Amino acid sequence: MATPTAPDGRAQLPPVANIQMVDLKAQYEAMQQEVDGAIMEVVRSGAFINGPAVKNFQAALERFLGTDHVVPCANGTDALQIALMALGLSPGDEVIVPAFTYVASAEVIALLRLSPVMVDVDPRTFNVRAEDIEGAITDKTRAIIPVHLYGQSCDMEPIIALAQKHHLYIVEDNAQGIGAEYTFSDGRVQRTGTLGDIGCTSFYPSKNLGAYGDGGAINTDSLELSKKLRKVANHGQGRRYYHDLVGCNSRLDSIQAAVLNCKLPRLAGYNERRNRAADFYDAHLQGLTGLLTPQRQENSTHVFHQYTLRIDGGRREALQEHLKEAGIPSMIYYPVALYDQEAFRGTAANKIDFLPNTDLLTKEVISLPMHSELDEHTLAYITDSVRTFFDR
Ligand SMILES: *Cc1c(COP(=O)(O)O)cnc(C)c1O
Repeated sequence: MATPTAPDGRAQLPPVANIQMVDLKAQYEAMQQEVDGAIMEVVRSGAFINGPAVKNFQAALERFLGTDHVVPCANGTDALQIALMALGLSPGDEVIVPAFTYVASAEVIALLRLSPVMVDVDPRTFNVRAEDIEGAITDKTRAIIPVHLYGQSCDMEPIIALAQKHHLYIVEDNAQGIGAEYTFSDGRVQRTGTLGDIGCTSFYPSKNLGAYGDGGAINTDSLELSKKLRKVANHGQGRRYYHDLVGCNSRLDSIQAAVLNCKLPRLAGYNERRNRAADFYDAHLQGLTGLLTPQRQENSTHVFHQYTLRIDGGRREALQEHLKEAGIPSMIYYPVALYDQEAFRGTAANKIDFLPNTDLLTKEVISLPMHSELDEHTLAYITDSVRTFFDR
């Protein structure tokens, strides 16, 4: 059969069936025996809560991150909430957070009756910068939540300097960044999540290290903070049935920990395969007017939780429709700035209702399929389809 051709005579690739944003099934099949065995071991042991699988995972994650204390919890949103609760902030205290992020980063601030102060981000890396934060610091500011969006570290060195100068806590939202490494100007290399006072991550199934349900973790190098975090996550009790403070109930269950124990040793490989997919996208999406590929920072590795393009000229929705017709899913992370969300309107302490870069990004970003199981054939089909949109 003749290969169909595009109007310009270029060969058009035959459609690839069943392309997904995230392919959890193929990833499972590659380790089915091991993961089935690990889950069944928990079932047979009956150690569903805080069993050996949880303790093993806690230790393994401490080693992986290079941190002294990991406190597993129920999900990434809880991780952020517990982190803020452990810092002993008072109602009305201000916490700086980027306006361009997933809602959880700011939701927990408002939930605790603290004031979210939303700030802008870098339009090329999508991350919050020290310069975005500095102007928002007031005498009520107590903490900053940098979000390592899409899998690349914020430029933390100047943010850390700012936090030290103003005596602010740093709580990293590392839900999308697990595995990324940041290099300081003196050559020191550290994993994201270990750069501030507390790191928070999520094991939501589609995250780079995803469980088969919900899960999360908090980490810190401070023994004192780790004790507080553990207490808060466990009904505020140090000793059983003695409650020192009002906490919550947030646990990583043993079955999820068993799955994560199988996947953590594979995370570097998953992230490597995501990078190869991103390299392919980068190489094959160059030179298109109106399309920007994501900028890679020199001082951070990228784990490509998302591969996110910017499409200008109001053509994003048309591109999304074009891809959909070709059977290619895409997502808009995130279509609405946090200050424009109904839940937050008028609540931000600095009364922000417009930030230019955030506004621009909500209109221009589009994320392509990104996971550890994308083959070149599929990637070529996707990039070919994007090119066809711009060539026509
Ligand atoms: C996923 C995510 C969270 C929340 O994690 P959950 O486990 O879904 O509660 C928080 N922040 C960011 C940036 C995320 O991507």
